[in-house]
Amino acid sequence: MSAECLFCKIVAGQIPATVVHETPTTVAFRDVNPVAPTHVLVVPRTHQPNAAALAAAEPATAADLLTSAQAVADAEGLSGYRLVFNTGEDAGQTVFHAHLHVIGGERLTWPA
Ligand code: 5GP
Ligand code: ZN
Repeated sequence: MSAECLFCKIVAGQIPATVVHETPTTVAFRDVNPVAPTHVLVVPRTHQPNAAALAAAEPATAADLLTSAQAVADAEGLSGYRLVFNTGEDAGQTVFHAHLHVIGGERLTWPA
């Protein structure tokens, strides 16, 4: 755990969040500022600054994020969904604990 990390604190239960799914390696909770009817963040329990760092250090856990995202989609009854890893400030990453956005619940446009 990183002492100053928001998502480490959510994983540890030190900051409240609406948790919708948990596994031994991942926690999924609703984004506080949703961009669609369903907007869930799936995070590893361990601290890594972004998805690539997670994949390099713990490839099995990186794969678990995808499995958890599908479980969230099933629980939410999503007929389709979008997965996003913002990586780096120029991509809009604001929390530097790896997290997978699961976005859906409406017809999504592309490009966004
Ligand atoms: P990023 O921009 O880093 O890809 O995504 C960070 C996400 O975390 C944003 O969508 C933002 O709304 C969400 N977020 C920021 N602070 C909190 C919080 O305290 N609780 C929850 N549930 N989500 C948060
Ligand atoms: Zn963290």
